[in-house]
Amino acid sequence: MSKIDLKRLTLTQLEEFLRQIGEPAYRARQIFKWIYKGQTQFEKMTDLPKTLIGKLNDHAYISMIDVYKKYESALDETVKYVFLLEDANLVESVKMKYSFGVTACISSQVGCSMGCAFCASTEGGMVRNLLWSEMADEVLAIEKDSGEKVSRVVVMGSGEPLLNYDELIQFLKVLNMSIAFNISFRRVTVSTCGIVPEIFRLADEGIPITLAVSLHAPNDEIRNCLMPINRRYPISQLLDACKYYIMKTKRRITFEYALISQVNDSDECAYELSNLLKDMLCHVNLIPLNPVEGKIYKRSTPSQVHRFEKILSSSGISTTVRRELGSDIQAACGQLRRSLLKR
Ligand code: SF4
Repeated sequence: MSKIDLKRLTLTQLEEFLRQIGEPAYRARQIFKWIYKGQTQFEKMTDLPKTLIGKLNDHAYISMIDVYKKYESALDETVKYVFLLEDANLVESVKMKYSFGVTACISSQVGCSMGCAFCASTEGGMVRNLLWSEMADEVLAIEKDSGEKVSRVVVMGSGEPLLNYDELIQFLKVLNMSIAFNISFRRVTVSTCGIVPEIFRLADEGIPITLAVSLHAPNDEIRNCLMPINRRYPISQLLDACKYYIMKTKRRITFEYALISQVNDSDECAYELSNLLKDMLCHVNLIPLNPVEGKIYKRSTPSQVHRFEKILSSSGISTTVRRELGSDIQAACGQLRRSLLKR
């Protein structure tokens, strides 16, 4: 019988496994706690009896993903990781340090199928979905490598999380479990490019995370050019789903808006966006575009970013310009994996 990786089991599945090897189910909680402290050796689980440790060594193991490459910013404390998965795929995560603690930005898929015109993650298409336990591994591996506890998670790396819905929900539950990561749902953000049916579904889930919607345009004409998903779910449908999400969760939605020079950064665009979002419980996060090699898009000038922000703010829309972290280490989504694969 081949050994089973306990990292891949939910708490219920772990209880079932323990019953199968003739052990009481309550031991599952103890083992689960150790796994999410980053322990991979049964001998070091000090509250387990020796007989159980022996059985676990016979029938099970605990995997850990490997750091394939690691890039540390010289400008701030951002660290970009490229992790090597069991099937030799590569996936990117970022550790960011803020005054309030450590945030992990993690990927939900290997690659991405969404085809956003300015993004490096989508170039080779989507390779596969990540398992919930692989997403958990990204957080654990960051904690293990840095020796610091992650207190916030943003699912904003490669992939469209709502197209990996079931694994995402299981991952969010593990993040929140007190015997696992113990991170409040309010400290978790999931970013979507706008998969409308799944936004409705998520709203009904009873998991009050922050939803971040990649909007990037004030009208369908521009958004169709930047984000192919808009042809399927145009802005009006997307905003209806967002309003439903706000109504059900009472949570403010964040709209991500990457400012691209002469594409979506004019004063007219700012006024149109203000009009679109007025009266919504929302926040706009303006992102100076991270230019990707080989793409035509350029970032807006600092003065245009400032003008855009002013127009939104003076229309009563809560707006911030995202602070850039790790700009010297290609910390934007998908860029490192892309350059490593090219090599
Ligand atoms: S921006 Fe997000 S959804 Fe769009 S291609 Fe990149 S990873 Fe996929």
